[in-house]
Amino acid sequence: MISVVLVCGLFAAVLTEDIPSDPVELLRQYVQINTTTGNDLSPAVEFWTALAEAEGVPITQYEFEEGYPVLVLKWEGADPSLDAIMLNSHMDVVPADEADGWTYPPFEAFMTDEGDIYGRGTQDMKSVAIQYYDALRRIKANNVTLLRTVYMTLMPDEEIGGEYGMIPFVNTTAFYNMNVGIELDEGTSYDIPIIPVFYQDKSVWQIQVDCYGVAGHGSTFPATNSTATGKCRNVIDIILAYRDEQYELSTQATIADAGIYTSVNLNKLNGGTANNVLPNHVSLTFDMRLGTRVKESEFQAMVESWIAQAGDNVTLTYISKNKQSPATRVSLDNPYWAAIVAAAVEQKILILPIVPPGSTDARHVRSEGTPAFGFSPMPNTPLLLHSVDEHLNAQTFLDGINIYQQIITNLASIPGSLTTASKSSYLYSTVE
Ligand SMILES: [Zn+2]
Repeated sequence: MISVVLVCGLFAAVLTEDIPSDPVELLRQYVQINTTTGNDLSPAVEFWTALAEAEGVPITQYEFEEGYPVLVLKWEGADPSLDAIMLNSHMDVVPADEADGWTYPPFEAFMTDEGDIYGRGTQDMKSVAIQYYDALRRIKANNVTLLRTVYMTLMPDEEIGGEYGMIPFVNTTAFYNMNVGIELDEGTSYDIPIIPVFYQDKSVWQIQVDCYGVAGHGSTFPATNSTATGKCRNVIDIILAYRDEQYELSTQATIADAGIYTSVNLNKLNGGTANNVLPNHVSLTFDMRLGTRVKESEFQAMVESWIAQAGDNVTLTYISKNKQSPATRVSLDNPYWAAIVAAAVEQKILILPIVPPGSTDARHVRSEGTPAFGFSPMPNTPLLLHSVDEHLNAQTFLDGINIYQQIITNLASIPGSLTTASKSSYLYSTVE
């Protein structure tokens, strides 16, 4: 079912002298590789292979689905028996088309005189991958061997849910053997001088509802509830009434807790063949991000009752139905959180633990039982993930490397005596 292709020591014929020592140049090179989800990722694999070779660290490639490589780079610690630090990023980016109104082409990584680097992936999340790498490169250049092993992992398909990347990867023996104590993953930008830290993600459910009804000539006039569109109207009325309630709740949510509400959006409507024919089939697709206190079994029962109320011949298909992932403890008795708080103090940055409205690959890691935090050091930066004109200022990017150098150093220096508890003790379920 899942095939694993293991390629060790696969080094591209790239001279290490070609690797820019300037991390801004390195980021620009990475952004210039168009890694839109589904594209051929081999140029990105070659890029990372060259970077691993330049640092003399091993790189391993896994492939659970052809064309979707997962990469693991390893910086071995002084005591490899201790739980390791995993720095995750995704290689893929969402599509970007210059015709959508980009000021500069999205895969050119143009830098303005003010130092703003424009390009898809500058915020989400190629910047973070280069920050990890450059921080580790500097630590090594300072002749420091960290106590714990640090891995960089690179995923191929976060933007479409991780089915070929993180989901199979966390179920491998290879992941088990990495003995990860804490995973870091992506966060988000904030237009204020605060960096959020995600400690839980909302789970993603996507449903398709198919409504079937009487077909006929455009001049026929059957009862509304017998038509596909009439049944779909019922579905929409019921689900959007729930959406209104949740919208009210969302207006009371602080920026720190998008977990108090469930977002629901009707994102696709398909149906109809001709202007004068009643369609016998109309389908609707809803995207829902479950509040963190929602009990899945109760939510599922509610969704199924909505569909039952809409009429006969209305079917429900789950496109995506992730289980609720636990939260990572953000109290100082969690040594990993304490290490991040200490780094924030040392770097004079403000951090805020939050549950974001969206979700990241970190949810699959937490669901597997490993604590994880999402952190992208982009304070005072407009939120442009997935947007036209996504860009990041070079100074913010460079400051983020200092921040990551401190965070990685602190995390990988936690003495073994502080992490003897089972790693699941640093997680808690908010649904009990
Ligand atoms: Zn992302």
